Amino acid sequence: MAEKYTTTDSGAPAPSVEHSLTVGSDGPILLQDHYLIEQMANFNRERIPERQPHAKGGGAFGQFEVTQDVSAYTKARFLQPGAKTEMVARFSTVAGERGSPDTWRDPRGFSLKFYTDDGNFDMVGNNTPVFFVRDPMKFQNFIRSQKRMAANNLRDHNMQWDFWTLSPESAHQVTWLMGDRGIPKTWRHMNGYSSHTYSWINDKDELFWVKYHFKTDQGIDFLTQEDADRLAGEDADYHQRDLYNSIEDGNFPSWTLHVQIMPFEDAKTYRFNPFDLTKVWPHSDYPLHEVGKMTLNRNVVDYHAQIEQAAFEPNNIVPGTGLSPDKMLLARGFSYADAHRARLGVNYKQIPVNEPHTEVRAYSKDGAMRIRNATDPVYTPNSMGGPEVDPKRAAEVHWAADGEMVRTAYALRQDDDDFGQAGTMVRDVLDDAARERLAHNIIGHVSEGVKEPVLSRVFEYWKNVDPELGKKVEEGVRNGG
Ligand code: NDP
Repeated sequence: MAEKYTTTDSGAPAPSVEHSLTVGSDGPILLQDHYLIEQMANFNRERIPERQPHAKGGGAFGQFEVTQDVSAYTKARFLQPGAKTEMVARFSTVAGERGSPDTWRDPRGFSLKFYTDDGNFDMVGNNTPVFFVRDPMKFQNFIRSQKRMAANNLRDHNMQWDFWTLSPESAHQVTWLMGDRGIPKTWRHMNGYSSHTYSWINDKDELFWVKYHFKTDQGIDFLTQEDADRLAGEDADYHQRDLYNSIEDGNFPSWTLHVQIMPFEDAKTYRFNPFDLTKVWPHSDYPLHEVGKMTLNRNVVDYHAQIEQAAFEPNNIVPGTGLSPDKMLLARGFSYADAHRARLGVNYKQIPVNEPHTEVRAYSKDGAMRIRNATDPVYTPNSMGGPEVDPKRAAEVHWAADGEMVRTAYALRQDDDDFGQAGTMVRDVLDDAARERLAHNIIGHVSEGVKEPVLSRVFEYWKNVDPELGKKVEEGVRNGG
């Protein structure tokens, strides 16, 4: 008699894991073999819809510790000196499906959830500080252009460049993507950026605009296109394996959090719109302030329960932190929670990885897969001692807005353009060897199936980023890749 006997899902001893129940050894299977039916039925339901996008990824648990004093800028309790907060991180590619290779060229998701004493704070960032579009109306079409065509179900470079060259605001991010950082060596060797501007509010109710930069302590490192292509065949889960094994070996990866801080009033007159997601704030204007360190030190024990079901959303903010007038960020506030409801159900915040580590006293109730018991009174206002709202404690960030209802781009300022910062990166940040690899990567990518009229627009696009690079790309592609 086994001590540790197998059970059915309802906890009763399982009858057999080898033989189904039949009428005689050779006879038909019986419907009352509930254990067999449970096995088959559960198996058929193991997969849940994959994320759209960011389907392929992995992550781990860790801790965030504040090492510096930024209390002049935020009253968030988890950002006060010495505070330590449990957290979970998930890294991912964007366009690939759940089984796709980790080493495809793509931005990487960099999502964090901090289980603070004031509820969960999430940063749903990327390994790049900018993005391809600046208005959420374009996001859905952008992602479709990076995924698969309708008829042949193939990914298509012509479709990708068609969208990019018709959306010149993509130039900065595409420059990043085609450069070295477009394929990180491992998840441990990349930075994470909020990309968006967020807000902080201090104990004097002063408001600041902030950008989060999680800088890798392992150093930035990348894969060449050729190495990445080889690895895609040899080990499609290369990045997942690296993270898991590093943590198992006690080699805990860490990132140092820095923030750029812009005083509230600066945003009104800054030379370009500081909420435009296609631009960075130059370090020379807004230097980095160190905040603390995040260390990933514990692997998950159930990938599905703890990573596939992890639900990050930019609107998970805590007192002392808030959003900003970035149109993309405000739209993500709706779309992420909506995606989780669609994928995981309305009670997804009760799945353990998503549960706050603080008491929840909400009036929400019922719904599919409700796990936590609701308690009376189930309505508010009430005279039965139920929880009461404390707006002062919530410390919501507010700002003023005024104007006609319009459908327009952000109002243009002196330095608002689509190509300037991409050009700065090519000319001033990259060295000769990195510039050479950038051109090589673009030429290789474009040479795989990009046709007229898209092709001519590709050459124009790169000449707008940098005339010399544009010329090199055109010559390279016309000479056969
Ligand atoms: P800086 O010279 O102060 O910053 C340049 C930054 O570029 C570095 O700090 C580094 O960011 C990043 N970088 C270095 N090598 C690469 C590479 N191969 N691919 C991508 N990024 C790289 O100049 P500015 O702040 O004025 O920015 C100039 C340009 O640098 C921008 O137009 C932008 O393209 C890029 N950049 C700027 C960032 C910012 O927040 N200001 C952040 C990242 C890039 P890091 O230290 O974050 O690794």
